[in-house]
Amino acid sequence: MGRLTVADGLDLSALESWIREFARLVADRRDELTELDSAIGDADHGANMDRGMSAVVTALEATPPTDPAALLKQVGMTLVSKVGGASGPLYGTLFLRMAGVAGDGTLDAETWARALRAGLDGVVARGKAEPGDKTMVDALGPACDALDAAVAEGASLGEALRRSAAAAAQGRDGTVPMLARKGRASYLGERSVGHQDPGATSATLLVDAAVTALAPAGG
Ligand code: ADP
Ligand code: MG
Repeated sequence: MGRLTVADGLDLSALESWIREFARLVADRRDELTELDSAIGDADHGANMDRGMSAVVTALEATPPTDPAALLKQVGMTLVSKVGGASGPLYGTLFLRMAGVAGDGTLDAETWARALRAGLDGVVARGKAEPGDKTMVDALGPACDALDAAVAEGASLGEALRRSAAAAAQGRDGTVPMLARKGRASYLGERSVGHQDPGATSATLLVDAAVTALAPAGG
């Protein structure tokens, strides 16, 4: 089966690889996500994300989507319905908003940047977190900014993806000294300081998955 290279843009099968890689990373890092959430939450982030992404992969096989928008919509709907925690509706919204930008063709770097930005805007509209509140927004925001900058400079899609992943990781690390102002971690007040945010960690995996699945060496 011929898959487009990243230089051609992201087609349905490329995006499906991204989703499967995210599911794989979440399963692989499930214990780490849970441990982070046990420090400043209720120790279910790994289980929540793994349950949701396993259901996503099952749905992909049961009802194969026919274009990028349909794929992203299916992912979003599955997460909203299968994940009870804060992260289910938030990640669900991210994918549903991405679907609104993705359309039925192939995504180039500019469209990918717009889609992820739309996803972030959806997360913010739904969860009302601002940058610095110690949430997934603190990884996704820098990832979007890096994508926009890369696109403005005319970087290749592969390069844009790598830069967004580096920015997400930096944003995730930046949550450690933050005081949580949203979600369960905010109940801890000052005691939330000194811990890495679980949602910023899983959001970094989402952007990492794009590099692994979509931007193999070069491109
Ligand atoms: P719950 O908090 O319901 O147990 P999870 O543990 O699955 O849900 O997810 C926790 C993560 O969700 C947090 O680490 C944070 O990144 C993210 N989060 C929580 N509330 C918000 C919000 N209002 N906006 C953005 N992200 C949020
Ligand atoms: Mg939790």
